[in-house]
Amino acid sequence: MNTTIAIAARQVRFNVKPLPITFLATLFVALVCVSLLTVEAWRSWNARIVELQEAEIATRNLTRALSEQADDTIKQADTVLVGVVERLELDGSNSAALERLHKLLIQHIAELPQLNDLSIYDETGLWLVNARSGPIPVVNNSDRQYFHHHRDDLERGPYIGPPIRSRSTGAWIVTVSRRYNHADGSFAGVALATINIGYFKNFYDSFDIGHAGSIFLSLNDGTMLVRSPMQDNAIGKNLANYPIYRDYASKNAGGTAVMRAGQDGVERLIAFRHLDRYPLFVTVARSKDEVLADWRADTYLHVLGAMLLTLALGLLGWRLIHQIQLRLAAEAGLLQVQESLRTLNQHLEQLALQDSLTGLANRRHFDSTLREEFSRAVRNATSLALVMIDVDYFKQYNDIYGHLAGDECLRQISEVVKASKNRPGDLAARYGGEELAVLLPDTNLAGAIAVAEKIRLAIYDLQIDHAFGPVGMVTISAGVAAFVPLRDDNIPFELIQAADKSMYAAKAAGRNCVRSSDDLR
Ligand code: GH3
Ligand code: MG
Ligand code: MG
Repeated sequence: MNTTIAIAARQVRFNVKPLPITFLATLFVALVCVSLLTVEAWRSWNARIVELQEAEIATRNLTRALSEQADDTIKQADTVLVGVVERLELDGSNSAALERLHKLLIQHIAELPQLNDLSIYDETGLWLVNARSGPIPVVNNSDRQYFHHHRDDLERGPYIGPPIRSRSTGAWIVTVSRRYNHADGSFAGVALATINIGYFKNFYDSFDIGHAGSIFLSLNDGTMLVRSPMQDNAIGKNLANYPIYRDYASKNAGGTAVMRAGQDGVERLIAFRHLDRYPLFVTVARSKDEVLADWRADTYLHVLGAMLLTLALGLLGWRLIHQIQLRLAAEAGLLQVQESLRTLNQHLEQLALQDSLTGLANRRHFDSTLREEFSRAVRNATSLALVMIDVDYFKQYNDIYGHLAGDECLRQISEVVKASKNRPGDLAARYGGEELAVLLPDTNLAGAIAVAEKIRLAIYDLQIDHAFGPVGMVTISAGVAAFVPLRDDNIPFELIQAADKSMYAAKAAGRNCVRSSDDLR
């Protein structure tokens, strides 16, 4: 009840209609669902970023490991060449020296699995010795690029040539070579180590980089030496026009990039790194789709879970809102019932206090009001007045005109008495039979006599025929009493008794008149 009053007060103060509870509940459920989906989307997006970051780190680490492996592989071959060149320059290339060298080369090749062969050529390109047992094929390699390089260049450093097919084994090989000189510094020939491309390929094949991933080892000029997985025409292919070479690898020592390949349209995460000691670089490319495959599967599961949860929440919310609506409807119905009950009660209460024939207050009502007004008069020390009215010769009226006419007459008289009330506190009642009473709080005797006289005249003015009446009309006799009651000395009944006495006095005085307690003294 208090809450209702508080809400009503708030409405008056702000003149704002509060939002309906069902709207708020719907909004709440919708907000919870949206928040859930938002949090899930945010989580998924972050997981994607983390996945890509981790893949980038892993790819970069793999690239670093592979570049170090290539560096070491070539370094081992080159170290052998450094020793061979020193020995050739010291011992020369006579047959005894070459024989010793042959044994040494066989020993080295047994230790280094990456090597295809180790060979020495003289200044004409003639094959002097290799690392294999058996006769040396009579082959002139003066047409090879490494031969031209060392013959024409005084530089003593190692030279790594483009991939070629071995004339002895037919396999694809990478050449690492060094020049050796005569004592006068002139060109004496080339010491050559050939590395199996298959050695790198097998190693690269052992890494799981997905179906669309690739690893390749290239020369700094963009010439591809190894590719895993192997592709037709991959060996020796020039990458000069590929964006990863043109825009990245040709300009930086290492790095990563994300780019879409022109040939297959696959977006790839690419990491590259140049070898520390040799002019080569390693590239590892992984398909972004494959990198994100686990994340995608995980996200599908999460999205499915979130959607099921949202659905469950939505259904629960819907049920809740439905329940709220039902409750509101029930409350509204209850209020309506309460209201009609209240009206009915008021009506019943009124009926219980009213006389059915005349519409005046009934005897019960009169008695209780007399008690209340009597107490009030005692408290306030005010005068309480009572007018007792009795219809003259009413028995005869009934006898002459019939009981129904008597009832009607009584009704008319009651209307007049009702209309005589001046103040809200005055009470006109049917005291019993054809006796009426008018209780007048805060009224002295003179005032009450005036009221009684007014009633008497008004009834007379009704001009209701009464053959047996004192003046041929229906008249009343009225007795008036009034006094200021004292707490311990007086009781309500005394007022009735006094008014009754006055009324009898009026009867005795010939009827159609008003008498008061004053007249009795
Ligand atoms: P008096 O002048 O001395 O009062 O004579 P009276 O005939 O009126 O005498 P009394 O007051 O004793 O009579 C009351 C009569 O009023 C009795 C009854 O027939 C009649 N009466 C009382 N109540 C009703 C009523 O509700 N309807 C009708 N029609 N008559 C009533
Ligand atoms: Mg009477
Ligand atoms: Mg009478």
